[in-house]
Amino acid sequence: MQDLTDGVARFQRDVFPAKAELFAHLATHHAPHTLFIGCSDARVVPELITGTEPGDLFVIRTAGNLVPAYAPGADGITASVEYAVAALGVRDIVVCGHSACGAMTALAEDHDLGGAPAVATWLRHAHTSVARTAADGDVPALVRQNVLAQLTNLATHPSVARALAQGKVTLHGWVFDIPTGRVQDLTAPLAA
Ligand SMILES: [Zn+2]
Repeated sequence: MQDLTDGVARFQRDVFPAKAELFAHLATHHAPHTLFIGCSDARVVPELITGTEPGDLFVIRTAGNLVPAYAPGADGITASVEYAVAALGVRDIVVCGHSACGAMTALAEDHDLGGAPAVATWLRHAHTSVARTAADGDVPALVRQNVLAQLTNLATHPSVARALAQGKVTLHGWVFDIPTGRVQDLTAPLAA
């Protein structure tokens, strides 16, 4: 915890003064251009890998960067997606998977999740991706399939479906490679 306290002190001393004007603007403006949906994994830091500033990204992070398909009834992910798309009007939505994802590894290698029942239940949202991945144990292939599956799931959310129909939003699927820092855009060929 001391590290965090030191970090806050450093932020206030060194970082904030340099961005004081930006934060003064952000105090009354919230207009992110992108909804970024990434994994909760500590190594995948959306603002760092996209070189963005505070105010640029509306971020949702879940284990395995999963976005369940729309189902009536309130849940935090659906509410956050709807707010970003319908209220804030983001123009792009990025779903970003990553190398060595613990969630995808557990699924690809069929780990025993008996000690983590909530994780096991949550990861059922990726069973279709597992079924679509030809080789058992192929984590990179499952990571890619999973990103594409989440784009399909996103499109089932009414707010996203409406924005897509009106041409107001574009979906992107990325994979971040931790050891090289590279970002693969799985959807780039389709965007041409
Ligand atoms: Zn992950």
